Amino acid sequence: MIHGNGKAQQSPRKRIVVVGGSAAGPKVAARARRLDEQAEIVIIQKAPDLSMASCGYPYYVGGVFDNRNLLLTTPAGVVRDPSFYLKAKGIVARTEAEATSIDRAKKTVTVLDLKTQTQEELAYDKLILATGATPKLPPIPGIRLEGVTTLQSMQDADFLRRVRDEKKTKKAVIVGGGLIGIETCEALHLAGIDITIVELLPQILTFLDWQLAKLVELHIRSKGANVILDNGIAEFLGQDGRLVGVKLANGTELECDLAVVAIGVNPNTQLARDAGLQIGKTGGILVDKFMQTSDPDIYAAGDCVETTNIITGEQAYAPYGDLANLQGRVAGENAVEGDTATFPGTIQTGICKIFDYAAGSTGLSESAARAAFPDGVETVLNASLDKPGFMDGQLLVTKLVVERSGGRILGAQCIGPGDVSKQIAIWAMAIKGNLTVEDMANADLPYAPPFSLAIDHSIATAHIMQNKLTGRMKGISAVEVKRKLDAGEKPFFLDARGPDEYEQARLGIGEHLIPLGALRGRLNELPADKDAEIICFCKISLRGYEAARALMGRGWTNVKVMEGAIAAWPYPREK
Ligand SMILES: Cc1cc2nc3c(=O)[nH]c(=O)nc-3n(C[C@H](O)[C@H](O)[C@H](O)COP(=O)(O)OP(=O)(O)OC[C@H]3O[C@@H](n4cnc5c(N)ncnc54)[C@H](O)[C@@H]3O)c2cc1C
Repeated sequence: MIHGNGKAQQSPRKRIVVVGGSAAGPKVAARARRLDEQAEIVIIQKAPDLSMASCGYPYYVGGVFDNRNLLLTTPAGVVRDPSFYLKAKGIVARTEAEATSIDRAKKTVTVLDLKTQTQEELAYDKLILATGATPKLPPIPGIRLEGVTTLQSMQDADFLRRVRDEKKTKKAVIVGGGLIGIETCEALHLAGIDITIVELLPQILTFLDWQLAKLVELHIRSKGANVILDNGIAEFLGQDGRLVGVKLANGTELECDLAVVAIGVNPNTQLARDAGLQIGKTGGILVDKFMQTSDPDIYAAGDCVETTNIITGEQAYAPYGDLANLQGRVAGENAVEGDTATFPGTIQTGICKIFDYAAGSTGLSESAARAAFPDGVETVLNASLDKPGFMDGQLLVTKLVVERSGGRILGAQCIGPGDVSKQIAIWAMAIKGNLTVEDMANADLPYAPPFSLAIDHSIATAHIMQNKLTGRMKGISAVEVKRKLDAGEKPFFLDARGPDEYEQARLGIGEHLIPLGALRGRLNELPADKDAEIICFCKISLRGYEAARALMGRGWTNVKVMEGAIAAWPYPREK
């Protein structure tokens, strides 16, 4: 056997058994094979398919592509079936085979062949659990009715794709406004189905703070889908065993012939629990940085494990496809070479697409950051284009969260039709590298008009944060502005845009239109009391900031800038 150090060693042929054959499992097996040509590697997979790109299900359901096999193929177009695994990788992959128990003392796994119902014991030297997750299914009356489904397995995707193709379904309810619920909403809406999302919490997409989530919600509504918040499903209503509607907790009844339950997933840990392996605080299998369980001969990876949040040091459950692959790679290496590779944990980076918007986040949200760093968090909201207007630049709204002392980046969220993925990737690496606002303020990022502004949106966000941290800018969020309005306060609102823009869109909060270019000649229209509260804004807040600086330079002492301005206003507008 050739080990990673290049030395040839005489050792018996090792048997590596991998339970689970979707994302993490095949990654474990492939990595193990690349490091050990001699090992016997067996994948035990309960589902009929292997290596399913589950993250692609919503796009198959929505008709972005029609060939189901594309969910299962290599980049070269070969379907990853048992024959592919055997021929291309020398890996035995057994589908429709379920690992039903582990005997740790004997180092065997019991495998049930689901086609023949025969059982056998398979010995292992190293066992890797990659059993994934199962969707949460609350015990709501009627949940077993025909027409109630999840979108977790390939069979679910097949079912929903049939629903799309048959064009008989008219109304659907999506239960849960998380990542999968939102992606399913778009997929079924593209199929011409009337959609209502029902979410128990006061907002969708809880990886975002409220304001950004609200902006995404407004975008969803603008496409004709309905969103009901602060409400749960009390009952699925049926007729002759088929779903005909849902009853909400507040008594409202909605007609529908399809319901997709997407309220999150639970780590699939039964096998591990039965074998006496340690389970973590969040319910996932407990593993160390080597992806090793409490049994040194058993590793685990993917949605079935618990990991560590690198920023807080707390245990976290992070069921993401990228992490499943990264963890699988580490577990595969360690199963072959001993504990050499490590997986340090997660910063909870995620992204999803919803119609013309993307929504992503990395690190801590404001609420999570305030809980972890009670006295020392600052936030800023920036709205601007991703590219110049002449290159069809699209809006991005970013919220940045930093530690007030020292300016360490703790989290970032970004939404909009612009290139959200790039922004989140930049901030993810800033967080992993322990970078500060100061580092980001002079980041040397690639620039040409087709790709970004000369000062990239991320860098501009860091600049605004710098201005806030140094006291050059006093920011106020739209949420605080609304609170003031609701409390009957009457700050002087200065809208620094041009008259044309004012005619096209306006908040209607009693604002005074004084275009930035005219401001210095119209100072007499501002409050005579130099301590009066003045809140400046424009479309995205650059002109609002410049207006604020001009007023501060002329003696007004209580001037604020509404962060994100009209572009990030999450409430109804006059126009
Ligand atoms: C619709 C959808 C969209 C998603 N989109 C994204 C996205 O955009 N980005 C992202 O990062 N993540 C996304 N995810 C999450 C991502 O798909 C998962 O994190 C990833 O698939 C986890 O991989 P896994 O191998 O750990 O588990 P799974 O993919 O759940 O695979 C586990 C496999 O183990 C098998 N198994 C279970 N128990 C046994 C047993 N006892 N014996 C044998 N086999 C067993 C199951 O049959 C299953 O196929 C999405 C998930 C879904 C469902």
